[in-house]
Amino acid sequence: MSVIPEVPPADEATEAWWAATRQRRLVLQTCTGCGSHQHPPRALCTGCGRTDTLHHREVSGDGTVDACTVVERAMPGFDPPYVVARVRLAEGVVLLSNVLAADPYAVRVGDPLTLDWRALDDGRALPVFTPVPDPALEETP
Ligand code: ZN
Repeated sequence: MSVIPEVPPADEATEAWWAATRQRRLVLQTCTGCGSHQHPPRALCTGCGRTDTLHHREVSGDGTVDACTVVERAMPGFDPPYVVARVRLAEGVVLLSNVLAADPYAVRVGDPLTLDWRALDDGRALPVFTPVPDPALEETP
């Protein structure tokens, strides 16, 4: 894939999240008050509204396809066809991301995914996902 032209800079709410991506660590905002996880990072908890109980916790990045579509139109930084997906992480949080699949048209809702990273020019990275191979579908040589 080519370079993504514009990714928003970090702000006060997203700074810790972006910093973690520099180390290829996926973190979620977690509330010690009510136990909620949320993404993207915000100034207050969407579960209980508190602002002093949020911290970032590293997660595995394991998830499943919640919804997906194949984009066939060229966009700067994206070579068609490519998969745009809502990815539901094991913690229940949903991320909008890409699924990097050999066959974009074979990606289905419910498919298990594993975390990967797409590097940005400034050292940050975007979380992307790859399908977990299904052993039952592996071809025998
Ligand atoms: Zn909360």
